[in-house]
Amino acid sequence: MIIKARRNYKQVELLEALKHRTDLTSHQLDLLRHLKETTLLEQHFELYLSALDMDNIDVIWQFNYSDYHQDALINLVLISNDGIYLFKLNNYSGLHYINHHGMLADYFTDEVKIDLVHLNCVKYSIYNILDPRLKQLPIIIKCVCLNDRFALDGHASKQHFLFKNDIAAYLSQIKGSHKKKTRIIAEMIHDFHHVSDNISFQSVKKGLRCPSCQLISDFNCHQRLFLCLSCRTIISIDQLFVQAAKEYLLIYPDRKMTKSAMYQWCNKKIPPAKIALLLKQHFKNEGRTKGTYYLELNIP
Ligand SMILES: [Zn+2]
Repeated sequence: MIIKARRNYKQVELLEALKHRTDLTSHQLDLLRHLKETTLLEQHFELYLSALDMDNIDVIWQFNYSDYHQDALINLVLISNDGIYLFKLNNYSGLHYINHHGMLADYFTDEVKIDLVHLNCVKYSIYNILDPRLKQLPIIIKCVCLNDRFALDGHASKQHFLFKNDIAAYLSQIKGSHKKKTRIIAEMIHDFHHVSDNISFQSVKKGLRCPSCQLISDFNCHQRLFLCLSCRTIISIDQLFVQAAKEYLLIYPDRKMTKSAMYQWCNKKIPPAKIALLLKQHFKNEGRTKGTYYLELNIP
C-alpha cells in the first residue's frame, strides 16, 4: 500500500515563482537545481516499482529526516515483513571509491558524496523509534546509482549499492505477506517524517510572469489577449492571471488573496473589474462582500 505517494516538490514551484521576482541565494539556486534533478530520478525509479507487490509492501516516498546536524532525504522507503529498505537515488558518474571514513567519494577529486552518511543516519534513527519487539527486523540501505557511467572501485564493498541494471531483479525479490506488524511500522515511520521546507526571501517583484520566456515582463493587452514585450508570445489573460495568482498563494500562504491584492500584484496591468471576474471564474470565494478573498479551486 502506498502510505505516502511521490509528489512534486512544493519548493520547486515556489523557487521557480521567486526566481524572477527576487534574488535567490546561491544556496537556493543549488536547491532548485538539485530538487529538479531529484524529481527526474524519482520518476525514473518509480517505473521499476510497477512489478512490486503493492498489496503487501508499504511504500513511503520522500522521507525527510532532520536533526541538528543535517537534513537527509531518503527518496523511497519500502516496508515488507522481511525488512525495511531505504533507497537514496543518485546520478553520479565516473569512478568512485569508499574512503577511510566509510564515505562514498569521487576517485579523482576525493569529493565526498553524502549518500551513505544520510542512509546510515536515517537507518539508526528509524531503529531507535522501533518498538523493542521489532528491532530484529533488518534495515537495509541502498545507494541507488541510476547513471550508466557510475563505477565503483573494485576493492569497495558493493553491499550498500544498487546499480541500474540490477534494480529490477533486486526489487522483485522483496516479498511481503500482509501482516499488521509491518503496517504499524510504516505508519510509525511516516509519522516520524520531518519536513523542513522553509525558504526565506526578501523583496519580491510584483507583476505578471510570461509562461513562455518566464520573465516578469511588460505586456500589451488587447481584449483577452496579452502580448509579451520580451519574447512576443501571445498569452490569454486567463492563463497569465491564474499563474500570477497561484504564485501569490505559493509565495504568501498567510495572506488573503483579495481583489485589491491581486490588482497590486499584477502591477495594475489588469483593471479591477476584470480581476474580480477572473477571480470568480478560476478561484473559490470565501467571506462576504468587502472581506471577500479567494482560494485555489482544487485544494484538497
Ligand atoms: Zn515572454
